[in-house]
Amino acid sequence: MSYKLKNIAVIGSGTMGNGIAHTFAQFGYKVNLIDINAEALQKALDTIGKNLDRQVAKETITETDKENTLNNIHTHTDLKTGVADVDLVVEAATENTELKLKIFKDLDSYAKPEAILASNTSSISITKIAAATNRGDKVIGMHFMNPVPIMKLVEVIRGYATSYITTNLVMELAQKLDKVPVEVNDYPGFVANRILMPMINEAIYSLYEGVAGVYEIDTVMKLGMAHPMGPLQLADFIGLDVCLAILNVLHQGFGNPKYAPCPLLVNMVTAGKKGVKSGEGFYDYSNGLKEAKVAAKFVKLAQNQTKSSLRGTKQS
Ligand code: NAD
Repeated sequence: MSYKLKNIAVIGSGTMGNGIAHTFAQFGYKVNLIDINAEALQKALDTIGKNLDRQVAKETITETDKENTLNNIHTHTDLKTGVADVDLVVEAATENTELKLKIFKDLDSYAKPEAILASNTSSISITKIAAATNRGDKVIGMHFMNPVPIMKLVEVIRGYATSYITTNLVMELAQKLDKVPVEVNDYPGFVANRILMPMINEAIYSLYEGVAGVYEIDTVMKLGMAHPMGPLQLADFIGLDVCLAILNVLHQGFGNPKYAPCPLLVNMVTAGKKGVKSGEGFYDYSNGLKEAKVAAKFVKLAQNQTKSSLRGTKQS
């Protein structure tokens, strides 16, 4: 296999895009970080700078490594110029099927014919994304975990037409980034989110139905199941909008009501409560980590509803 993956484009500079750009750049790859939103690009550079400072403080990298990493990243707001000379694109834009189909159609025209087009999607069909291009053999899922510079796993998803050559190149590349790649087939949510999201949804249902509060649910899962973070805090960390989008893909993809997103999650996203990135979700991040008042209110509401329906049962 002589094709070398040296120059990388990362599309989307949000929660995942900044971590993916950071990781490639730290391992010596030239990275074009692309976002339609110039503010998001600046925020991403600030976040990468802070995360590199933390690595320097922990002595896992040197000050020179930090400078080299930052010098390897160039930002763009124009997709065409950003992907023109790259060998691999990793798309990490918003989890929305129509958006991703449009991006991949454009990538097929703008990127070199031999370039590999990978998506960091959490749940959307790689086969469907590939069908928006004329190079299905070179389209693949490269699903990094959050926070990317720290988490070891890369879920590598083969679409229906993905070639062995593309798969092997991406598996090898993940290893070069000091990650552990795991190959899976293309079904809704793949493996990671097919298992994780029903658990998070069930935790939200437990809150919604007044079984327990935010602190109690997260503590049960942390201390009882040895999870490093409770499911509600993890949902905030992932982004509640991202969780909702993934559950919708699972629900539609399998046609099974067990994946239907909890109405509380739908309401919170509609109200703009997206978790860490918006400053509030199940927790309030404006001043340290505190349980958000709105989440506590939902438990009370649910408990009152249960009490009144019990009263209704007694009367009838
Ligand atoms: P995010 O909302 O934090 O960031 C998305 C970014 O994409 C935004 O900065 C937005 O401006 C940008 N964007 C939107 N349309 C664009 C376009 N046409 N061109 C370029 N940029 C565009 O989202 P995220 O959490 O970083 O998720 C990105 C992808 O990674 C999604 O597919 C998501 O499912 C997946 N993912 C997320 C997580 C997680 O924990 N959040 C983990 C693994 C995978």
